[in-house]
Amino acid sequence: MTWPVLAAVLGLFIGSFLNVCIYRIPRKESVVWPSSHCPGCGTQIRPWDNIPILSYLFLLGRCRNCSERISPRYPLVEALSALLALGMLYRFGLTIHFVIYYIWACVLLIITFIDIDYQIIPDGLSIGGAVLGLAIVYWLPLSYRDSFLGLALGAGLLTALIYGYYFLTGKQGMGGGDVKLLGMIGVFIGWQGVLFTIFMGSLIGTAFGLPWAFVQRKTMQAAIPFGPFLALGGLLYVLWGEQIVSWYFGFLA
Ligand SMILES: [Zn+2]
Repeated sequence: MTWPVLAAVLGLFIGSFLNVCIYRIPRKESVVWPSSHCPGCGTQIRPWDNIPILSYLFLLGRCRNCSERISPRYPLVEALSALLALGMLYRFGLTIHFVIYYIWACVLLIITFIDIDYQIIPDGLSIGGAVLGLAIVYWLPLSYRDSFLGLALGAGLLTALIYGYYFLTGKQGMGGGDVKLLGMIGVFIGWQGVLFTIFMGSLIGTAFGLPWAFVQRKTMQAAIPFGPFLALGGLLYVLWGEQIVSWYFGFLA
C-alpha cells in the first residue's frame, strides 16, 4: 500500500474520532468513553456500522435500530479529515511537520464545526493549542521569533479590529474566541501567515457571508461565525500560501 492511500484511510478513521470530539467537547463529555451511541435511541453503534463513509452509505444515512436520520456531516468531516491528511502529506512528505500540521488541521476542523454549532471556540483548543505550539516550536518550520510574533500579531490585530469596529459602529463584530483562535494559528504559521489568514478569511467570509446573511435576513455578524474562515485561511496558507501569494502579486504586476 502506498503512503497516500495509508494517509487517506488513517484520515478517515481519525475523522470519525473528530466527529466524536465535535459532538462531546461542547457538552463537556469524555471523548474516549463511552463508545459511540445513536443520539436518537441511545443504542451503542456496532463497529461494522461505524466504518467511515461506507457505513453511512450502506445504512442510507439512518440508524440501523431506530431509523433516525444520521447527519451527512459525519461522512463530510471524515472526508475532510482524509483530504487534509493527503494535503499535508503532499505538502511536507513523510516528516514530523506532516504529523504536527495534520494534528493542527484536525484541531481547526473540530473548532470549525463547534463554532458553527454553538458560536463558541473552546479555550482548551485555542489557548491549549497555542501553548502546545510554543512548546514544540523547535520542531516547527519557522523560528521562535516568527512564531511568537504570529501569536502577538494574531491576537493583537484582531483585538484592534474588534475595538475599532466597535468604536465605529457601536456593535461587536467578532468575539474573544476569534482573537484566541488567530493567536493560536499565528503560533503555527508566523506573522506572515497571520496577515494572509486575515486577508483570505475576510475575503472568503464576505463572499459567503453576504449572500447567506441576505437569505437569512440578518446582519452578517449574526448570520455566520468568523472562526471557520480564520481556520480555512490558516489551512490555505500552509497548503498553498506561497503559490497564492506569488499569483496575487503577479496578478497585480
Ligand atoms: Zn438510533
